[in-house]
Amino acid sequence: MGPVLILLGPPGAGKGTQARMLEEDFGLIQLSTGDLLRAAVAAGTEAGVKAKAVMEAGQLVSDAIVLAVLKDRMAEPDVAKGIILDGFPRTAGQAAALDGLLAESGGKVTAAISLEVEDEAMVERVSGRYTCASCGEGYHDQFKQPAKAGTCDKCGGTGFKRRADDNAETVRARLQAYHAETAPLIAHYDRLSVLERVPAMGSITGIRARLAEIVGRVAA
Ligand code: ADP
Ligand code: ZN
Repeated sequence: MGPVLILLGPPGAGKGTQARMLEEDFGLIQLSTGDLLRAAVAAGTEAGVKAKAVMEAGQLVSDAIVLAVLKDRMAEPDVAKGIILDGFPRTAGQAAALDGLLAESGGKVTAAISLEVEDEAMVERVSGRYTCASCGEGYHDQFKQPAKAGTCDKCGGTGFKRRADDNAETVRARLQAYHAETAPLIAHYDRLSVLERVPAMGSITGIRARLAEIVGRVAA
């Protein structure tokens, strides 16, 4: 199996944005448990029905549900190219389950990249963000409007959507969950000598270049 990269960081740190760029730059597959869960909610599957209210409250969905949707996705053949995990693992239990899952195919985590940001800025970033409904390109009310109002720069689409959990109150709950459950994984991956810390308050393109340098080095 190809490289296994983990993106760690609070909501709004830019995990999704950078994962999409790493897909483009390196031909890897982005696996976002948030996207997988939102798809399950939209499809009304059993997992989705259970996850919906938890996600809207900004709490963590149970490890069992998250692992079920992730395992389904990892059963598809394209993941052999290598993956960027975005939003997973988020708990010590998920990290252990991931190691087990990778061990089955003789793999292990190639690098865990921690996007280091300031919490206060995340509330503003997350509450203003929205995406193109057709291609998923990300935008922001203050920081990144489309060049032509109402039209996606990337695909020309005119429909946009906002996530139900991208509001100031829910972001605070998500930041709390991040610090309580997920931030301890930074030390975990440091002990395994696969941790890379990346200052991530700068420009999207600057961070992209820094990540490309890291991935080029570890995934060679
Ligand atoms: P963000 O990183 O911006 O919070 P995500 O799309 O990764 O956004 O996650 C949105 C929500 O989906 C989380 O607040 C949580 O409820 C749920 N979720 C996503 N991934 C996981 C996970 N690995 N474990 C538990 N819950 C998750
Ligand atoms: Zn678009």
